[in-house]
Amino acid sequence: MPITMLAHDRKWTSVMPEHYEVKRIGSYLKEAGIEGNRIIALEPLPGAEKILKQESISKWQSNLENQKVLSISVKAKYTFLELDQGTLMWHYRFTGIPHVTGYSYDTKLYTIFNLPTSVNGHRFCRFRLHFEDKKCLEYFDTRCLSDIRYFPRLQAHELDIHKKLAPDLTHFSPLSFTAWKTQIGSRKRNLKQELQDQSTYPSGIGNYLACEILACAKLNPWIPVSSISPEEYQALCNGIMTVKKLCEQHANYQWFHVFNRTNCRICAGTVVRKKHHLGQSGQTTHYCPQCQRQPLLKVSYVRT
Ligand SMILES: [Zn+2]
Repeated sequence: MPITMLAHDRKWTSVMPEHYEVKRIGSYLKEAGIEGNRIIALEPLPGAEKILKQESISKWQSNLENQKVLSISVKAKYTFLELDQGTLMWHYRFTGIPHVTGYSYDTKLYTIFNLPTSVNGHRFCRFRLHFEDKKCLEYFDTRCLSDIRYFPRLQAHELDIHKKLAPDLTHFSPLSFTAWKTQIGSRKRNLKQELQDQSTYPSGIGNYLACEILACAKLNPWIPVSSISPEEYQALCNGIMTVKKLCEQHANYQWFHVFNRTNCRICAGTVVRKKHHLGQSGQTTHYCPQCQRQPLLKVSYVRT
């Protein structure tokens, strides 16, 4: 089997890769020898045109072929491959993942999201990059939702996308409460939405990381950011630091407190799964109503 991933539990909600999965995939690509390697051919497979929609396939081939991958870096949930004459950027969205033939993800990467798994994986391979040392990077995407773009002449840090992303979780150290309040400005949104904003510090947080941070901080996801007290902010920072450490230490998800759990790891109460009326996506928030109570003084936030 070319791809060795754990089959995910059917009860689990599917989520997209977040910062630490993207980082692990980046490390995997480096260990598989993609960095420093020269692309000699781009081989399109069925669906390639949906995923490489920025240009015609022939234009993509002329853009990428004979270019060396100088470096691979990750910021938030984006991967940047700097080439001799530009940058190849990709974002996995929900269902994309690269794999280097012959190199197992081994214990580097587990999955809780919908990715092509070992059984029919090749059916979803959309293109291959062949390298000069005969290595082959296969890009899988079941639903062709990945965002893949090439930027000629620009290095990763020069891209608008890169500039708009706040420094990510890897580089997180708490801001002062005053500095955080300045970042918040007059925004009217809840804590979970704030955490998931990729333009505010730290970036790289998606649905499950936000749920876990708030569970560790014992903060209600629907608290308006404008009403956060210095004590609550301190709890939030501690929650971020705790989750950051857990993610760095574990490639698996056994440490989750609320996400995809029936009972809260802290109090054993029942975890609630709920969509919020202000949520921008269909994502479901998992939280413990006992540990993460909505403060009485802040119920005025609820529309009446
Ligand atoms: Zn609890």
